[in-house]
Amino acid sequence: MTHAGDDRAAVNAAAVLRTVLDHGPVARSVISRLCGLSPAAVSRQTTGLIRRGLLRELREPPGPAASGGIGRPRIPLDLHTGAVGGAVAAGLHIGVPASTFGLVDLRGQVLARRTFPHDGGHSPARIGAELARFLAEFAGGRPLLGAGAALGGRVRPDDGVVVRHEALGWRDRPLARELSEVLGLPVRVDNHARAVAGAEILFGRPEARRSLVHLFIGNVVDAAFGIEGALHRGPNAAAGEVAHLPVPGSTVPCAACGRTGCLQATASDAAVCAEAVRRRIVPDPAIWLLVDAAAAGDPRADRLLRERARAVGRAAALLLDVFDPAVMVVTELSSVLHEGYLDEIREAAVALSHVCADPERIVGPHAGPAVLPEAAAAVLLGPLFSDPSASSGPSVPPDPSVVT
Ligand SMILES: [Zn+2]
Repeated sequence: MTHAGDDRAAVNAAAVLRTVLDHGPVARSVISRLCGLSPAAVSRQTTGLIRRGLLRELREPPGPAASGGIGRPRIPLDLHTGAVGGAVAAGLHIGVPASTFGLVDLRGQVLARRTFPHDGGHSPARIGAELARFLAEFAGGRPLLGAGAALGGRVRPDDGVVVRHEALGWRDRPLARELSEVLGLPVRVDNHARAVAGAEILFGRPEARRSLVHLFIGNVVDAAFGIEGALHRGPNAAAGEVAHLPVPGSTVPCAACGRTGCLQATASDAAVCAEAVRRRIVPDPAIWLLVDAAAAGDPRADRLLRERARAVGRAAALLLDVFDPAVMVVTELSSVLHEGYLDEIREAAVALSHVCADPERIVGPHAGPAVLPEAAAAVLLGPLFSDPSASSGPSVPPDPSVVT
């Protein structure tokens, strides 16, 4: 049971934390002005947030400016990203060929990351145990807020259940609970397209908070939508299932639905890799082999990736016309690594779109190649910045003896 005073304190704590996220380092008096809270309320909230390892005071170096001031020096506050005592979150992206682990600070910076190939299957117990080992190695005694996990398929964030993930064969899997049992930490779970959109809203370009569409092109294809800083999920958490969006100009048959020209059948990593093997560009269907081949100067690999980029751009044009977002984020490996493929996506999108004549509105994820671990951690950090009082996880570093 909560009281009106608790609710107000929770709202105030979130306002202070978000103000420091956007404006830090910043003095208490400025926070007070920016949030419209009394100095006493700001002081009370900052004390609590400092105690939890979320904020810290920055000591100004002694110098002419500091000694010349009048009265008590105004000590700026910032999010605690320090190596000693700064809170961190784990980010777990569960992919089909491999998972990615990340250790992420309160500004979304990925401090460490590791790829974990799924040679031995996808059991959450195994993935969780390996993630615990990673955290014991890299968290260095810093307070761990918990873990955010992101993956494809239909995911219900409220109870952390993976409703359906075709490639992993998961149905109604209570993933958050299973991972939490292994890690001994709070775990939140969401679809990876929404996770990237959430990270853009929290840590990315300011216009992403007005409105954004995110298009995720991996082994699976997904989209996510955000308006006024909030992610849209839909009543069944199913918003953004664009796998069978028809791509203008594509005649590729879709084995899943029997029609032709579906986005996933045309442009997913799996589809492009199968085509790359068929054209004898790469020996195995691995997207990084194809991207590496193009980077090494193979014109056939480059041509195939440009064909894919143009198909992605045409699908992006449809979404641009429906939503007219302030920013359109596209996560696709070749364009994240090489700007030329992003230009190809932009050209194809602008050529087809009826509302977007501005190619710069289409961007890659702000975190670049660190997009997946950052986005996964944002699944946990997003709710923390909205309500820090509700996320009072055990700020206890893992005991390395448990997992070694
Ligand atoms: Zn289809």
